[in-house]
Amino acid sequence: MNIVLLGAPGAGKGTQAQKLVAEYGVAHISTGDLLRNAVKAQSELGKQAKSYMDAGQLVPDSLVVDLVKERLAEPDAQKGWILDGFPRNTAQAEVLDQMLDAEGIKLDAALAVVVEFGVIINRLSSRRTCKSCGYTAGPEVEVCPRCGGEMYQRDDDKPETIQKRLDTYQNQTAPLIGYYKEQGKLLEVDGDRPVDEVYADVKKLLGL
Ligand code: AMP
Repeated sequence: MNIVLLGAPGAGKGTQAQKLVAEYGVAHISTGDLLRNAVKAQSELGKQAKSYMDAGQLVPDSLVVDLVKERLAEPDAQKGWILDGFPRNTAQAEVLDQMLDAEGIKLDAALAVVVEFGVIINRLSSRRTCKSCGYTAGPEVEVCPRCGGEMYQRDDDKPETIQKRLDTYQNQTAPLIGYYKEQGKLLEVDGDRPVDEVYADVKKLLGL
């Protein structure tokens, strides 16, 4: 299973990815998580990425592409992967196509989780994320049920940054829907429903 997940921030890509990973043992490759880890570790990459992330903008492609390339080469990704948050613009999608072509790997599908912006704004402003493993939940969850880590509100889930991220999505990422439709790879699921209902449809769409 090699899948790209599309959808606005807060549409539920990460949640659906976590469920697929738990059931099918594929690698969850979230560029947002990889970048947040780099920021936390204060690596050179993290230092360069931080200001873009804080502003709700995309980190330059050159920084993100190498990160994805390295992650796809790791042993756990050889069984299959779910890319969550990458590609984020057409240039990244083209690089991904070239990378996969060079390795003889086929992208099975681009699955778009569709949710209206009004719903997204409410979701993101109440979202809490695990500091250790990236698990997400509502504000009532104080300790991560998956790893026991501390739940916190991401800086970019604060109201002043949410609108900027949605603008970035609309301008740069939404065109990927058309990109994958043209390739005959696009699948769409209504993400404004309970998690398990969305997941049941995700599995059906992916033929699982
Ligand atoms: P996410 O957790 O996917 O919402 O990503 C959080 C932030 O990381 C985004 O707002 C961007 O600043 C950055 N980011 C994540 N993935 C990418 C990507 N593929 N290209 C550029 N920036 C990214």
